[in-house]
Amino acid sequence: MAGEPRVDCLFCKIVANEVPATVVRETDTVVAFRDINPQAPTHVLVIPKAHYRDALDLAAGAPELAADVLRVAGEVAAQESVTDPGYRIVFNTGAGAGQTVFHVHAHILGGRGLEWPPG
Ligand code: AMP
Ligand code: ZN
Repeated sequence: MAGEPRVDCLFCKIVANEVPATVVRETDTVVAFRDINPQAPTHVLVIPKAHYRDALDLAAGAPELAADVLRVAGEVAAQESVTDPGYRIVFNTGAGAGQTVFHVHAHILGGRGLEWPPG
């Protein structure tokens, strides 16, 4: 069922504290933790605690939770001091776009120059 934890999901295991992570911010509905393979000085993943496979699944199934993820993304950017000059929020969506973990997550990238368009 939408939002229910998945036993085979790495990020559900992080939510359940079965896999360790460096958590930088947490609310009742969202957790933010450092990416294990950082691509920028700041590289944090923001996830809903409930399981949705991608951004559209989340927006369709739980729009208030999608807003929570974006709000926490902004809070993480502020606490990491990357709000100025700016940072990137990325939702890789689908294997062809580089999504490898099918529990929706926002990548927060900052602290270096960010090229546009991304590769
Ligand atoms: P994506 O490729 O967009 O699905 O992003 C998945 C991200 O999860 C990658 O940037 C990985 O480096 C990151 N990742 C994988 N395993 C872990 C982990 N145990 N803790 C933190 N980040 C992870
Ligand atoms: Zn999950």
